[in-house]
Amino acid sequence: MQDQIEQLVARALEELAGTPAADLDDWRRRYTGRSGELTGILRGIGKLSAGERPLAGQLANAARQRLESAFEDRKTVVEAESSADVEAIDVTLPGYRPVVGGLHPVTQTLRDIRRVFANIGFRAVDSPEVEWDEYNFEKLNIPRDHPARDMWDTFFVDNPDRPGEMLLRTHTSPAQARVMEQTDPPIRIITPGRCYRYEDVDASHEATFFQVEGLAVDTNITMADLRGTLEYFARALFGEDRRIRIRGSYFPFTEPSCEAEMSCHVCGGDGCRVCGRTGWIEMLGAGMVHPDVLEGVGYDHRKYSGFAFGMGVERIAMLRYGIDDIRHFYRNDLRFLRQFN
Ligand SMILES: [Zn+2]
Repeated sequence: MQDQIEQLVARALEELAGTPAADLDDWRRRYTGRSGELTGILRGIGKLSAGERPLAGQLANAARQRLESAFEDRKTVVEAESSADVEAIDVTLPGYRPVVGGLHPVTQTLRDIRRVFANIGFRAVDSPEVEWDEYNFEKLNIPRDHPARDMWDTFFVDNPDRPGEMLLRTHTSPAQARVMEQTDPPIRIITPGRCYRYEDVDASHEATFFQVEGLAVDTNITMADLRGTLEYFARALFGEDRRIRIRGSYFPFTEPSCEAEMSCHVCGGDGCRVCGRTGWIEMLGAGMVHPDVLEGVGYDHRKYSGFAFGMGVERIAMLRYGIDDIRHFYRNDLRFLRQFN
């Protein structure tokens, strides 16, 4: 009987050592429970002789106590282990830094341009990217057979109801006509937006790009107002020392038309690689609104006059940041884009 008990205890303890929390109650039932093995041995004591009984009883009770206390120990260990799993989340560890996006350099430039013009009372106006030929060309003094149409290579949009009349705007100028049709002077607006041209892409041309058009119409608006506005803009974006010079150019919707140049913001006018050693940088095209355009939207050109200008936002961004290839903007190369955040 003694051997039997010792073997049972040894087997039970060995098994207990590897028992997980979920199986602990099952172990207890099999060994010390009401129909467990040790309980069975205890019941057998009654059949022993009176001389053997006391010793067997002591052994069996000692075995029971050993198993019960081993059970409690095991239970404590297993519970400690499972709560250790929960505490394995170390709240003092530094977290992962979330990836923070940044504004695209063209977006940053566009916002700065809007802010600069907002400061002198120019309201930003939105206008459709899919346009009618009428607004993109005709109302801007560019009829169908006009040779100036060659200046804008156009993406046309299929429209069965009005074939050949729907297109992706080639400039933001259509907004001029749309605003003037709906508003009486005085007008001071800018029209920032995306434009499309069917063009070969190279270091200075993209098929899609952003433009900001500006328009001011009122009584007694002169070329001097245009010049002052552009000088203010150049100084606000490129530094207080910038100067402006204007030379003749041609656009169908302005008369006279001009190109505005600013003194080089890199060399200050002495001549460098950026300005091609001339000291001057081409900034934008501009001019006085053509009388035909004013008449076309129902304004009396003898009473009102105005100026308009249009700039490529990518070009302004390239000048600001010293970027030499417009294609960098739309390659989505993070090594490039991260430099601006
Ligand atoms: Zn220079």
